[in-house]
Amino acid sequence: MPRAFITGITGQDGRHLAEFLHGQGYDVYGMVKGQSNPKAVQVVDEMPFVELIPGDLADLPSLVAALELAQPDEVYNLGAISFVALSFSQAELTANTTGLGVLRMLEAIRMVGGTQSNPIRFYQASSSEMFGKVRETPQDERTAFHPRSPYGCAKVFGHDITVNYRESYGMYACSGILFNHEGPRRGIEFVSRKVTNAVARIRLGLQHELVLGTLDTKRDWGYAGDFVRAMWLMLQQDEPDDYVVATGTAHTVRELVERAFAEAGIEGWERYVRQDPKFYRPAEVDLLIGDATKARRELGWQPEVDFAELVKMMVDHDMRTEATKAGVALP
Ligand code: NAP
Repeated sequence: MPRAFITGITGQDGRHLAEFLHGQGYDVYGMVKGQSNPKAVQVVDEMPFVELIPGDLADLPSLVAALELAQPDEVYNLGAISFVALSFSQAELTANTTGLGVLRMLEAIRMVGGTQSNPIRFYQASSSEMFGKVRETPQDERTAFHPRSPYGCAKVFGHDITVNYRESYGMYACSGILFNHEGPRRGIEFVSRKVTNAVARIRLGLQHELVLGTLDTKRDWGYAGDFVRAMWLMLQQDEPDDYVVATGTAHTVRELVERAFAEAGIEGWERYVRQDPKFYRPAEVDLLIGDATKARRELGWQPEVDFAELVKMMVDHDMRTEATKAGVALP
């Protein structure tokens, strides 16, 4: 059986990817940080087939030990401080985890190596936030980076060092430049899930207001379940390369809000939504829209879930879970 090692297994993508790889016949190992990580319990409950290994992207020896234990064929580096807003208030931690963590993972792979005939393949979770103040629209693999947050800057370092290790040491290392992808497992701090969760709670009478930053920001939102397939496909090619993964369709936060309220059967969404400048970013990224032509052509990848289905999936999920938590009946 092929063996995969995933950092960030407790995150949205880690859980989707673990499920997907298990379905492909992989033995799946996941790295968990901290001494009593509550999210690890959730992973064990949901996916008993995953073997959890302790480790931290800030600690090189722990990465080496984890790889020696897992002996993987493929490493997916999804671990990161991934919330842009937090990266402004904890910039050094973000640089260390999201940026330098990639370098440590690559070094750990060089140390453990896999076999010469079967070297470890590496996937780096890069981000459309690297494009930031976009130089062109849509963005593809050749678009220049201009990150607008400590998170984006750290991801640029992670991307560049991945390319550099591929070119310097002949490693099979790929960088997936993924545009926003969401789903019911998205952290509640991210705007998509914040919206669908609040809408569900408003519908159930558990909350009265949704407070947001700017509604004009435009994002290319896809479904996480579709996007993890692209990660795996990148590691199955003859040669390593970098790919933009995106739906190619952008929507504003306003459209997301409108659709989520409509999905829950609530009219007049404006009555429930308030904007607060405290949620504005110090430097905004206005429009991100990706051109995934290369991924379509070379990987045969394309998204299956569209924006409307994605919002419906998330609202339905949040209605069910919030109703169960509160012990109220679904309307
Ligand atoms: P997520 O839900 O925020 O998950 C992040 C994961 O990183 C969590 O499992 C977290 O563990 C782990 N982590 C944090 N600090 C760590 C450390 N010091 N050592 C080891 N692990 C650590 O993020 P996601 O949405 O699944 O995204 C996965 C990756 O793709 C991230 O690198 C993200 O930046 C990138 N990305 C995501 C998107 C998107 O739209 N979702 C788009 C482009 C790129 P704990 O739970 O224990 O904190």
